[in-house]
Amino acid sequence: MFAACAGSPLPPVDPEIAAAIAKIKAIDNHAHPVRPTVQGATPDDEFDALPVDNLEAQSDPVRQRATSPEVASARRTLFGEDKPGVMRAHQSDYAVWVLDRIGVDVMLANRVAMGPGLPFERFVWVPFADALMFPLDNRAIAVTPDQQAFFVLEEKLLRRYYDESGLSGRPPSFSEYLDKVVTSTLERHRKGGAVAEKFELAYLRTLDIGNPARAEAERAYSGRGEYKALQDYIFRHIVAECGRLGLAVHIHAAHGGGGYFRTQWANPMLLEPLLDDQSLRKTTFVLLHGGWPYTREITPLLTKPNLYVDFSEQTAFNTPHDVGEVLRSWLAYNPEKVLFATDAYPFSDALGWEESGLIAANTGREALGRALTAMMRDNEIGLERASQLARMVLRENAQKLYGLK
Ligand SMILES: [Zn+2]
Repeated sequence: MFAACAGSPLPPVDPEIAAAIAKIKAIDNHAHPVRPTVQGATPDDEFDALPVDNLEAQSDPVRQRATSPEVASARRTLFGEDKPGVMRAHQSDYAVWVLDRIGVDVMLANRVAMGPGLPFERFVWVPFADALMFPLDNRAIAVTPDQQAFFVLEEKLLRRYYDESGLSGRPPSFSEYLDKVVTSTLERHRKGGAVAEKFELAYLRTLDIGNPARAEAERAYSGRGEYKALQDYIFRHIVAECGRLGLAVHIHAAHGGGGYFRTQWANPMLLEPLLDDQSLRKTTFVLLHGGWPYTREITPLLTKPNLYVDFSEQTAFNTPHDVGEVLRSWLAYNPEKVLFATDAYPFSDALGWEESGLIAANTGREALGRALTAMMRDNEIGLERASQLARMVLRENAQKLYGLK
C-alpha cells in the first residue's frame, strides 16, 4: 500500500533505469573547470569572474565541508592516495581525463577566458556579461564585504573588455559605449566560440530588471540619473544582442555562495516581466541552478517557450532524494526544458572542481534515476519513456539547445 502511494518518499533507483542512465554520456550545462598549468606557472584564476573560494566564512552546507566523508571518498575514487602525482602524470590532457572520469562528454565552461588544456571539442565557452552593466563608480552600491570584493573584480573585467575592444577607457557617449564596448564584446565572445553569456547579477543586485527609456539610461550614463535604470537598459541591450547573435543567456537564479548572499534577489519570479517581453522572445534564457529554493515557483515558468532550467548547484548542496523530488515535478510538466549540470567548482583545496564535479555528477544521475523510478512506480511512464527522458535530460536537450554534435 505504501509503495502505491503517490507523494511518498522517492524509492531507490530501479536497476534497469540505473543501467540506462549509466550508459549516457552527459552534456554538463554549467561548470567552472580549472585550466591545467605546468608546475611553476601562474595557476589559473579565470574559472570565475567572481570567485567564491575566498569570501568571509559562511556556515557551509554539510555536503560542501572539506571534512565531509563524501569529499574524501570522491578524492580517493578519482586519485587514489596521490592527487598531485596523478595531476603530474596527466599534464595537458588532465582536464579531459577528469571529464572522462566523471562521465561528462561535453562541459559548458563558465570562465572569463579559455586556453590551452581545455580543448574546444570537450569544453564549450560561456563568458561573463555582468561587468558591462556597471560602467559607473560602483562604491555606493557595494554594501556588504562580499559585494565590495565583487565590484572590484567586475571593474577589473570591464577594463579588460575596454582593452580587448581597443579602447583606453569608458567612451564619452552612451551610444558609443553600447556599440564599441557592449556589442563588440559579445561579438568577440561569439567569434571565440561562446554559446552563451552568463550573468552572476544576483551576487551584485536584484534580478528585478525594469524597462527604462533610452533617455533615462543616457542621463544616468552622464552621471545625472538613476544608476539602476542604466544597468537595466544595458542588461536588455545585452539580452537582445544575444538573441541576434545566437547566444543563450545564462542567469544565476538561486541561492548563492557567501554569508551575505541575498537569496530573495535571486528569485526567478522577478524575471517574469522580462520573459514575457515580446521583443526578447528571440533570446533563449537558461536559469542556472533551477531557482533553488524557489524550485516550485520556477516550474510554471517552463511554459515560456524560450526558458530552460538546469539543476547544477542543487546537485552539489542537496541530497539525491531532494534533487529527485524537484526533477520529478519538472519532468512531469515540461521535460524538454530540463538540463543536467554539475557546477563543478574549485571550492577549496580539499574540494576541487574534480571532486565537486564527481559528487554533483553522481548526485544528478541518482536524482534523475529516483525521479524516473517514482514516475514508473506511480504508473505515469513506462521503462521506454523513462530511458528517453534520461537521454533528454542528460544530453539531448542541451545538444538541441546549443546545436552541439
Ligand atoms: Zn557556477
